[in-house]
Amino acid sequence: MKKFLVFALALCLLCAVSAMALADGTFRVGVKQDLYGFSLLDQTTNEYAGFEVDLAKKLGEALGYDDVEFTPVTAAQRGPYLDNDDLDAVIATFTITDERKAKWDFSTPYYVDAVTVLVNTDSGIADLAGLKDKVVGVSSGSTSAKALATAMAEADVIDDFDADAFEIATFNGGVTFKEFDDYPAISMALAAGDVDAFCVDKSILSNYKTSDRSFIADSFAPQEYGVATKQGSELSPKIEELITTWLEDGTIDAMTAEWGI
Ligand code: GLU
Repeated sequence: MKKFLVFALALCLLCAVSAMALADGTFRVGVKQDLYGFSLLDQTTNEYAGFEVDLAKKLGEALGYDDVEFTPVTAAQRGPYLDNDDLDAVIATFTITDERKAKWDFSTPYYVDAVTVLVNTDSGIADLAGLKDKVVGVSSGSTSAKALATAMAEADVIDDFDADAFEIATFNGGVTFKEFDDYPAISMALAAGDVDAFCVDKSILSNYKTSDRSFIADSFAPQEYGVATKQGSELSPKIEELITTWLEDGTIDAMTAEWGI
């Protein structure tokens, strides 16, 4: 029995040491897999490419990691992966909000985008007013539904809107929402007529703009993207310093220009 305990203890120590070594050597980053310009996974080579991928590699190098390991994340998976220590950082069009800042650390924004809506051109929907009583597809765990309802309320398209009480699944005050796990699924629902519109940040929507689809005239709710880390992580101040430096010296501008975003 004693022998067994010593063996189990040694095994635990070995596991702990190898886990530490892994954390030291590999920068584990969550990125999107379906966003041209930001982070797109090439299924044949299994390589990721885009601005957020380059940013992750640059951060990994500057932070002293040996390599960077990418994990694809959906909007809803971003926070839980950090909570569970499955990732060191998330660099995935993750909008900084007060609610999210209470749960995770965010760097200074490295990119800002606005939210808008994509529709089938033959629907005739052209602006926020045209979305009255329509069904809008959004991604679970995203800011999109609340941003759209707020913009429709501000444009007086819907009344009696209470942003604090807003719940995506039950909201029925002049527009309704259907939630999806990822963006390809919303695009398919729009093609099939299961939703009337597709709402999210323009940088994401642009991936789904085909010749028979149009953006509505309005864009709203600027989305500031930050690098997210676990709250209190020792990486947070280091990442903040690097992002701030690269914003000041033009490095980030050059990177976004390279990707045409
Ligand atoms: N940027 C928005 C968010 O963080 C849209 C969702 C997404 O990035 O996938 O909620």
